[in-house]
Amino acid sequence: MKIGIVGGGPSGLYLALLVKRQRPDFSVTVYEQNKAEDTFGFGVVMADTGLSHLEAADKASHDALRAAMHFSHQQTIRLNDQSIDVKRPGAGGGAITRIQLLQILQEMCWSADVDLRFSARQDLQNGGLERITAESDLVVGADGVNSVVRAQRAQAFGTTQRSLHNRFAWYGTHKLFANPALVFREHAGGHFVAHYYRYSTTMSTFVAECDEATWFHCGLDQMNDDERQMLFERIYAPELDGERLISSNSIWRQFPVIRNQRWSVGKTVLIGDALSSAHFSIGSGTRIAMEDSIALAQAIVAHPDDVSAITQAYEAQRRPGKTRLIEASEKSFDWYENIARHMDVGRVHDFVLSYMTRTGRIGEDRLREQFPELVAAIDVARKQALG
Ligand SMILES: Cc1cc2nc3c(=O)[nH]c(=O)nc-3n(C[C@H](O)[C@H](O)[C@H](O)COP(=O)(O)OP(=O)(O)OC[C@H]3O[C@@H](n4cnc5c(N)ncnc54)[C@H](O)[C@@H]3O)c2cc1C
Repeated sequence: MKIGIVGGGPSGLYLALLVKRQRPDFSVTVYEQNKAEDTFGFGVVMADTGLSHLEAADKASHDALRAAMHFSHQQTIRLNDQSIDVKRPGAGGGAITRIQLLQILQEMCWSADVDLRFSARQDLQNGGLERITAESDLVVGADGVNSVVRAQRAQAFGTTQRSLHNRFAWYGTHKLFANPALVFREHAGGHFVAHYYRYSTTMSTFVAECDEATWFHCGLDQMNDDERQMLFERIYAPELDGERLISSNSIWRQFPVIRNQRWSVGKTVLIGDALSSAHFSIGSGTRIAMEDSIALAQAIVAHPDDVSAITQAYEAQRRPGKTRLIEASEKSFDWYENIARHMDVGRVHDFVLSYMTRTGRIGEDRLREQFPELVAAIDVARKQALG
């Protein structure tokens, strides 16, 4: 069987690896527009629940990824000047440099004899997509939020796209934060958020965000990207402790919410962000994308040479689980779209409770079971507030 994968991000590389491991006789080609050593963003976190799925799918890549991760068992949530440290159950999340994640998967793909082609952008203009479609039995769109594979058949996929109102930019910094944190801060009448975590021995990720009212009220709409970066360096000076933010094409943008009614059209199938973008606030987009690859690889191996059975099995197996995660991501971004209202509550314990239960996946009972110290502190604070 001949499989053409457009996009050499986490989902495309992982799919190629899983298929070649199980069916070395299949021809699998990955077309990536960037060079092997280039990517966007800095580090990403992967929760331990997600890691266990990767371990079950392919232990060798899981072990290599895990060995490159920085783990943390605690997250700080700060509202203005009040903080709460939330101790995580289990191993906690692991953070990894995005390029390292890709290079580990690239290495393994090379050894599994995947045909990896870099600097190989495919689109309709250069005839690449037509050629891949003509040559392949199965075409996989693993080309992320701006997928051209999806765009060329948008109507057939039933694609919908809208932008959130909040604005964000993805920075790095040499400040090595002690543990991951979310810092919500009011400044000059605006509501700002920093999501940050260390992911290597020298670097941390720093995602800067504000709501739409702040964007206009504090004049970010009139600033250039350098001025916005400096504003965040000022607002988060206590946390950055003299370190600068580092830009890597860190453009301010609005998160695109992409959904598709159909997951496949003929022999073309979508995975990862190309299929549904998962908001960064749940820190799971990478593992959701890689779990799509697990499901599609299983379907390919179970139904070799029967494309219609592959796409049906993939969707039947994966849609329910993915829908649950994407719905959680939607509740999470709705919460962030309303940060001013949540922050105006003013009491850090109520704020943290609202944050922790925002996706609906954790109710107060599960919170009590998984985060007993946090719930005990919330109970004490509530009693104090009642006098
Ligand atoms: C600010 C921010 C922070 C995030 N933090 C986290 C986090 O902490 N944890 C987490 O799990 N996720 C996080 N994510 C989400 C995560 O980055 C994505 O969900 C994940 O990368 C999706 O993987 P993918 O393989 O589907 O797509 P991508 O990673 O986008 O990969 C797509 C690949 O396709 C290539 N490509 C695109 N078009 C073409 C073309 N026409 N021809 C050839 N190649 C092409 C691209 O160069 C890219 O390499 C974050 C996202 C953002 C924006």
